[in-house]
Amino acid sequence: METFSSIDAMRAWCRQLTRGGDTIGLVPTMGALHEGHLSLVHAATSSCDRCVTTIFVNPTQFAAGEDLDQYPRPLEDDLAMLRDAGVDAVFLPNTKEMYPGGPEEKSTSVQPSAVALPLEGVHRPDHFVGVATVVMKLFQAVPSDRAFFGRKDFQQLCVIEHMVRDLNLPIQVVPCEIIREPDGLAMSSRNRYLSDDERQRASCISRSLAQVERAFEEGNRDSQHLESILVDHLGDCDSVDYAVVVDRETLAPVSTISKNVVALVAARVGATRLIDNRELYVD
Ligand code: AMP
Repeated sequence: METFSSIDAMRAWCRQLTRGGDTIGLVPTMGALHEGHLSLVHAATSSCDRCVTTIFVNPTQFAAGEDLDQYPRPLEDDLAMLRDAGVDAVFLPNTKEMYPGGPEEKSTSVQPSAVALPLEGVHRPDHFVGVATVVMKLFQAVPSDRAFFGRKDFQQLCVIEHMVRDLNLPIQVVPCEIIREPDGLAMSSRNRYLSDDERQRASCISRSLAQVERAFEEGNRDSQHLESILVDHLGDCDSVDYAVVVDRETLAPVSTISKNVVALVAARVGATRLIDNRELYVD
């Protein structure tokens, strides 16, 4: 497994392989890897000739007071997992390489589409500008045929899909299923922050989504009622940023559901903010 910290060297490696006819699959991550990340790697290695994983904790997607400094960075463990998973190359840039003028500089950025505005956009206002910009930069550093993203970060996936479509980027976005712990908790690097008690309580988030899915499958199409089911099951969380059922394409509110929707939750357990979602399909 190769490792690169320079954009030029990373790009040259990709270009050489592409010239030889290989396809490249890209898996962007912030490290602290778990089975969720590895499922993206497996999807990439099984559908592309080469898999490149990136590990970069992107400062511009964190607001002041968020967990940028505490974010776990177990690099040696991450590299061992990627080697075992058959990754061909890892891109590990430092902040100076990704942001030559420094992350604080008001530099060129990507303005995401309107899908970035609700939900996370309300609670983390600059987050998706940071995400879209860094993903655009990673697409330039690692020219790839396909990029693999988890449905766990549903709104992020929408933002990236819109960016690729709107800016005519020559890459295919491949959404990947949410990988969960046995009790349903969506895997996340931030689960490491949870104490034993918090870890137990955090499972109410996926249970609330399962209850909504059950009500939806039983024919309930009133989004307000479905949202009240979510809230009723989130009592073990310390606070809830949002618990909504919205249009799956636009993330706009709906009243009576006649199109596909997605139930999304962002909640805090202790000091840890967790997100999860469930897509609900109208037949
Ligand atoms: P992160 O390192 O948290 O930025 O995540 C990197 C990628 O892994 C993103 O595309 C996430 O959506 C994806 N991911 C994170 N957790 C999961 C999970 N539990 N299941 C599937 N994909 C995930």
